[in-house]
Amino acid sequence: MLRYNIIKNKNPREIVLLKGRPCAWGKCAFCDYIGDNTEDTAEAEKLNAEVLSRVTGCLGVLEVINSGSCFELPEKTLILIRETVKSKNIKRLFFESHWMYRKMLQKMRSFMGIPITFKIGVETFDNDFREKVLRKNAPFKTPEEVARYFDSPCLMVGIRGQTKEMIDRDMDILKKYFKLGTVNVFTNNSTPVKRDDALVGWFMEKYACLENDPSVEVLYENTDFGVGG
Ligand code: SF4
Repeated sequence: MLRYNIIKNKNPREIVLLKGRPCAWGKCAFCDYIGDNTEDTAEAEKLNAEVLSRVTGCLGVLEVINSGSCFELPEKTLILIRETVKSKNIKRLFFESHWMYRKMLQKMRSFMGIPITFKIGVETFDNDFREKVLRKNAPFKTPEEVARYFDSPCLMVGIRGQTKEMIDRDMDILKKYFKLGTVNVFTNNSTPVKRDDALVGWFMEKYACLENDPSVEVLYENTDFGVGG
């Protein structure tokens, strides 16, 4: 499992993949990457300390991900991230959080003491598809609600049942309401959710220009940030 990398192209930053408690929701229809969670806090703290010791602060920006939300990281790990921010002169963090923790983001910003770019797994702004098919448990109704709390939505494209119109609308919303975003191209996994290859082909052709858009990162594999495995 790769747990540290430097992202050099868009939004240059160091990135670490840490271990946290199991995702408090844990029921998204497409998700099978919660195998990296643990109930063993001591084990997670030890591993996270080793990974964080690799951070150099070379780019002044650090992204911390875990298979869940940053609020599911052990408290000692959060303290260690804060110490690393100070000792390595890090000026900005990227964290991920589920919608259910939206009222806690400000507290985390105060705790870390530096600006945090909060990502959220929106998957799609089509409320029916997100809630009824993907079972995301993020029952917001409008993009404005998301933008009130979060900085950078993660969208998912290429799922069977999704339409071109849904994806076009999602891309428009991403550009209109947010400065940053991530698009994950869905790859088949152990869940019953399936990839629509024709839709992926259409997306890659129509949105090839995103390659040169500094504000949108497109991931074709879960490991495209150089962590995971
Ligand atoms: S919120 Fe994230 S980690 Fe939790 S089940 Fe959904 S996709 Fe998986």
